[in-house]
Amino acid sequence: MLNQKQIPSLDDLKRYYQEVYQPDQLIALIGLADFRYREFGFRLAENKFIRNISFRSPSAIKTFMSTRVPIQASIGAVYDKPPSIETSIQQLTWKSRELVFDIDLNEYDSVRTCGCAGADSYCYDCWSLINDAMIFLDDTMRTDFGFEQLVWLFSGRRGVHLWIIDETAKLLTQDARTAILNYLSMIQGDEYPFRIEPLPDYAKLFRTRLVEIIATSYIRYASIEELLSLGFEKTDAKRFQDRLEKQNFSMDSFTRNLPLDVEPMKLIRQAIRMRYPRIDRAVTIDTRHLLRAVGTVHSSTGKICTVIDDIANFSPEMAPSIWELLH
Ligand SMILES: [Zn+2]
Repeated sequence: MLNQKQIPSLDDLKRYYQEVYQPDQLIALIGLADFRYREFGFRLAENKFIRNISFRSPSAIKTFMSTRVPIQASIGAVYDKPPSIETSIQQLTWKSRELVFDIDLNEYDSVRTCGCAGADSYCYDCWSLINDAMIFLDDTMRTDFGFEQLVWLFSGRRGVHLWIIDETAKLLTQDARTAILNYLSMIQGDEYPFRIEPLPDYAKLFRTRLVEIIATSYIRYASIEELLSLGFEKTDAKRFQDRLEKQNFSMDSFTRNLPLDVEPMKLIRQAIRMRYPRIDRAVTIDTRHLLRAVGTVHSSTGKICTVIDDIANFSPEMAPSIWELLH
């Protein structure tokens, strides 16, 4: 059962921020060196949104959370001076921001074939789209770009965020972030459905990843009818799916095992259309964007925004809820 219907009361939130919440994970993520210069934003209980907030120390955040009890807490960029209501970020010089990616199940609504629909309805099949997106993006960022410090967070509802906290990543300009997105978009247009370009020669690793992660998952989750429409014989389709129950195909075994009647590019195009990671570009490009703070509560589910350790197997019920932590 993945769906969470309960909503935390203000009293639940107050008890959580007073008795349970500690900013340790937040500090592990954003560090202490320029903590004072970091922008925070909050949605308060009266549904008023405030930003341009900064704190002198982690204990000041704890005090703010337990007295103001915001219904949403978010982290922004680092500036040359501490942001404040009097000195907004528009008056300050931007210094740095982690490289972030936002992937949300909402973006996949048109290709979810499991029968789930609506904002808070999802099953393990739906979540496999997000698991694949995490595995794909994690490997691409480490292998193709050389980043080493990647932190995945569950947003608390139906999305995940990747924070790349390498020092070099924090200093990337908006143009550089756009270029990274464009690298990830070389097989897609600006809008769904994807416009698929031939992959350039330098993209060999990328192509392998497309087959080994996206195409194998596509076959695993596709209906037999879908596979028949791609040229599979019924027995071949079943055999392929049975083998994929046990292990993913490597590029070599995928090519070797694909029945002759199946055109590889047609299959890969369909796999990309159905399962390629759908990244919210604006969140990555906008270096002043506010993103949910780790350790805080999602007010429409009661789930805590949590670090994801096992990206291949994570699903939302593994994240603690405010009620579990309050006993
Ligand atoms: Zn589903």
